[in-house]
Amino acid sequence: MLFQYYPSVPHSYKFELNKDIELAAAHFNPHESAGASRNMHGHTFIISITLVGNELQDSGFLVNFGVINEFVQRFDFSVLNDHPEFAEQFPTTEGIAKTVYHLVADALKEMPNKPKCLQVLVRENPSSYVIYREALET
Ligand SMILES: [Zn+2]
Repeated sequence: MLFQYYPSVPHSYKFELNKDIELAAAHFNPHESAGASRNMHGHTFIISITLVGNELQDSGFLVNFGVINEFVQRFDFSVLNDHPEFAEQFPTTEGIAKTVYHLVADALKEMPNKPKCLQVLVRENPSSYVIYREALET
């Protein structure tokens, strides 16, 4: 299935976890060059989050799949432009990928097994997606 295509990144971590989350949301890009995207419109975004790590939690999870849902739940059925997370970054597909990456990466720092976020892929429609990655801290 097209939505389950994951660009893979070489790494040496023992575990890799991929979680897809559907996000129904509206957005617009107020920039003068944005064309039709200046008008508010909606998508069912598919957000694919890839986490890696070497150690599991006491529960046997790298990260509980349900916890990963919580990272983006706040945006479901909303206007993305209304969220403070997008005050300085338009909620373009690129902006969503970057913002979700940082929400996830910050939350992972609190976990005792120290999982890392390898990438966040945001698919806006069947033909368009964006990936955001940063160099992994060791
Ligand atoms: Zn759009």
